[in-house]
Amino acid sequence: MIKKAEGILSKIFGYHSFRPLQKEVIENIISKNDTLVIMPTGGGKSLTYQIPALIFNGITVVVSPLISLMKDQVEQLSELGVNALFLNSSLSQLDYQFNVEQVRNGNVKLLYVAPETLMLERTLELLEKLDVDCITIDEAHCISEWGHDFRPVYREIATLKPRFPDAVFMALTATATPQVQNDIIENLKFKKSNRFVASFNRDNLFLQVVEKTFPLKQTLNFLEKHKNQSGIIYCFSRKQVDELTAELDEHGYSVKPYHAGLSDNERMQNQEKFIKDDISIIVATVAFGMGINKPNVRFVIHYDLPKNIESYYQEIGRAGRDGLRADCLLLFGYGDINKINYFIDQKEGREKLVAKQHLDKLIRYAETYTCRRIPLLTYFGEEYYQENCGICDNCNRGVKELTDITVESQKFMSCVKRTGEIFGAMHIVDILLGSKNQKVLDKNHDKLSTYGIGKEHPREVWLSISHQLIVRGLLTKDFEFGGLQITDRGYAALKGEVEVKGKLDVETKFESKSITNLEYDKKLFGVLRSARKNIADKSGLPPYAIFPDKTLIEMATFFPTTEKDMKNIHGIGEAKYNKYGAKFILFISNYCQKFNIPVVSSNIINKRNVVGGIVKKLKYKIIGEEFKSGKSVDAILNEYNMKIDTLVEHLSKYSNLVEPINPVMLFNILECDKRTQKIVYEQFEKLGVELLRPVFDAMNETVSYIDLRILRLNYLFQNKN
Ligand code: ADP
Ligand code: MG
Ligand code: ZN
Repeated sequence: MIKKAEGILSKIFGYHSFRPLQKEVIENIISKNDTLVIMPTGGGKSLTYQIPALIFNGITVVVSPLISLMKDQVEQLSELGVNALFLNSSLSQLDYQFNVEQVRNGNVKLLYVAPETLMLERTLELLEKLDVDCITIDEAHCISEWGHDFRPVYREIATLKPRFPDAVFMALTATATPQVQNDIIENLKFKKSNRFVASFNRDNLFLQVVEKTFPLKQTLNFLEKHKNQSGIIYCFSRKQVDELTAELDEHGYSVKPYHAGLSDNERMQNQEKFIKDDISIIVATVAFGMGINKPNVRFVIHYDLPKNIESYYQEIGRAGRDGLRADCLLLFGYGDINKINYFIDQKEGREKLVAKQHLDKLIRYAETYTCRRIPLLTYFGEEYYQENCGICDNCNRGVKELTDITVESQKFMSCVKRTGEIFGAMHIVDILLGSKNQKVLDKNHDKLSTYGIGKEHPREVWLSISHQLIVRGLLTKDFEFGGLQITDRGYAALKGEVEVKGKLDVETKFESKSITNLEYDKKLFGVLRSARKNIADKSGLPPYAIFPDKTLIEMATFFPTTEKDMKNIHGIGEAKYNKYGAKFILFISNYCQKFNIPVVSSNIINKRNVVGGIVKKLKYKIIGEEFKSGKSVDAILNEYNMKIDTLVEHLSKYSNLVEPINPVMLFNILECDKRTQKIVYEQFEKLGVELLRPVFDAMNETVSYIDLRILRLNYLFQNKN
């Protein structure tokens, strides 16, 4: 059976392998076991009922809560040559009757229905006369009152089970909370053993948090690196949405607003323009996003702080559904926290407590110096132990980017000490900058020796230093009053016993990163993209319903000009080939002719493997050998355009798989002192060296992973000798 599923995957959908758990779920459905599927947004839930639907003889009914989602799915399936239709209140009477007839005649494999439509007696009677093999409940969190979109009618679907004894029931959602999951299982009377939960790690999303200083400028800098890409910018208020839209528009971006203050019509139009790539950016409040299936959203910016981690995860989840790299930027402003705290203070009792905890977790996420995926996934109850995800700002930050901030730290902390360790960061910074404000004068703080000794840096930098000192455990903050106190570690730094490293620049430079590791021809991609847009506009479809971006990227990499090559491209199954294959082959061969690119038929599958795998795998060997040959660290970093973290990672691999390496050349980048190093070696003895996470924890997260890696290299090298 699974062979059949694999055949459909490549023939109809044009995909080459299943995503995690898709195969298991499909097998379970084909065996007619009621199944609950929990996968993050973009995880590929739809395929898990669409493929069984094409294997079953009868019809599959899909319950979906939103008209836009049904329309989107039916359009995409029709493009793939699959007979799919929907029934909901948006259809004219004529179209509705037409669709009903199609269903009655047994011409339909997948029928999408609104829950209200399904529960109508006439719909049920229609379906009872057919052979219903599967009833799928998409967005199944609507069943639960604990979910974010409870819909009472969803709870009635369970009553249909006796009426369709031959149908397998399945429920799908991206909601991770166990409470909601259990609610669904109880309502539908599913066996717990038939629950499939995928990882919530979205490993194509680059997670980045920067301190919000000049948000407009920061946003413009970011957008500069994401020209012509689709993205969403979330703001807290309607006013902010309108202002930012106007600014971006003035700077030449194609952008529209979306919030509850606009008319229904205008909202719908703006959303449609975004989906059809008529505009690239939508600036929105959290009202935007439900029912958007656009797979090529390349970035999500949080211009203001999201409500909590759960909303944050949901909002960034709208980026990169197509599996290609997407960027998520959170502008984290301490002023925003004060604003939210103000609102929280208006609340009372439990509600206030919960809100405070939510905010606290969000702050911890933003302030973490370890991999961002750790706090994020821990929040959803998932264990995440990878040392370096490679796709968040912290894991990508090289030691080189940190500078010595010992002197600044000492200035700041001595000012904290001189004022009795009872004042907050704002006041300390006022003193350092030599401010003449009333509070400073009233307290006679203009007489202190630390008054005005910090004029070399602007306010933002000092505020940032104060946060870095807190995060690094040199200062603690009194939660109730905000007063800063110096810890033992802080005193050690004050006395010059330890060096402090950190960031002095609050400006962040955004890099423009390729969205795939394929080396594709950008110009050809542009040509194919506008061809796709033309076709899409003619048929009134969004461009992604014609081809996903990945299809165009592969075409611009492999230059397929034969049927066989074309069908090996991602997303090209039979129907797509028949519809568009010849056209795109022509575009490609014309392009090749124009630029004198030799056209050779090639085995794309092999090429894909080379590009994706082998070349990358051998890198650690090359780097390991260079390092062993005595080449300087800087020379290697320059030659391979590599960050120090990556270098150390390659060396770790080399040391593991080939032979231990002497890392003495790396000792000068170690941040921790000799005494700490000794303790780390003791922890290696005790806990082993396979995983660094336990050692990291045992050291109270005070030693960075890069330090731990270097020390581990040395430990292995010494043990060998
Ligand atoms: P979900 O409903 O879980 O949010 P979708 O079912 O909409 O996710 O799938 C997200 C995207 O991933 C879609 O564009 C889909 O075509 C694509 N996709 C799903 N499964 C695969 C696969 N096995 N290989 C390649 N692309 C896939
Ligand atoms: Mg879905
Ligand atoms: Zn990371």
